[in-house]
Amino acid sequence: TDTDTADEAVRATCDDATTCKRFATSKGYWKDPYIQYFVRSVGDRKAPEINRGYYARVQGVNHLLDAFLRKTQCDSQVINLGAGLDTTFWRLKDENLMPRKFFEVDFPTVVARKIHNIKTKPPLSKPIIETHSTDSLLLDAHSLESDRYCIIGADLRDISSLDEKLKKFQLNPELPTLLLSECVLVYMTPSQSSNLVHWAAETFHTAMFINYEQKDRFLKTGWEHVDALDMMTVYSMLPQDDVARIERLEFLDEKELLQQLLQHYNICWATKDKLNLGNAHFNT
Ligand code: SAM
Repeated sequence: TDTDTADEAVRATCDDATTCKRFATSKGYWKDPYIQYFVRSVGDRKAPEINRGYYARVQGVNHLLDAFLRKTQCDSQVINLGAGLDTTFWRLKDENLMPRKFFEVDFPTVVARKIHNIKTKPPLSKPIIETHSTDSLLLDAHSLESDRYCIIGADLRDISSLDEKLKKFQLNPELPTLLLSECVLVYMTPSQSSNLVHWAAETFHTAMFINYEQKDRFLKTGWEHVDALDMMTVYSMLPQDDVARIERLEFLDEKELLQQLLQHYNICWATKDKLNLGNAHFNT
């Protein structure tokens, strides 16, 4: 049907994101020793402004995520909605910043591919086994459940089934929770993404939701505080010694091209803060 074809195209977008990150890391924009296990080849060259754009996005999100984990002293959980082949779980393990539990949700077919790679690549499976206490690690084609890392196949447009699955995998609504949806909500209708954002606001009393959407959607669905920065501003707020380093990696003739590209995208974060963590600001 038309819906199946459209969903198939949406599922394929996770390869675009991973291929771009694979290329940028091969050039040295940032380190990701795990992404090679999800996309073997470095692929075609990407324009320098695309690489810098990905750098700004990845560093900006990491900055907010890491600040949240430090504030909660990792006594919190992370839910990556539409995670695709994202490798953040392994980075947090390596940096000793693992939350109590890290959840990922994506379409069952995307999850099946991710799990297949994990099963067959020891550098991916070892950290999961290491952080698991018993031998009852649950692993099937469409889900992985370990003590610290869960991967769940679900459709984010079906809220009741999403809620049920997350609870089955021991989601704890009482824990401070960081939700992340990077380039995901845009593939849903406005009402579907509002439902998801509203579900998150209703489910958690202390939470942060990082995304690339408009502020309005969050203010209308029960979030207390919403902020957004365009990517050019994020880029100018990142550690400038590292920015200087990456600007030397590839020559970029047209600085204005980068500005125009980055000004086009926003990073937005919404918070609810019953526990008074004070995590509403980028610079904390
Ligand atoms: N967040 C990852 C990143 O930034 O690298 C992947 C981004 S990719 C552009 C979008 C992802 O969202 C895909 O993996 C896609 O399968 C997933 N996605 C989109 N709509 C979804 C839905 N209704 N249910 C589950 N996953 C969905």
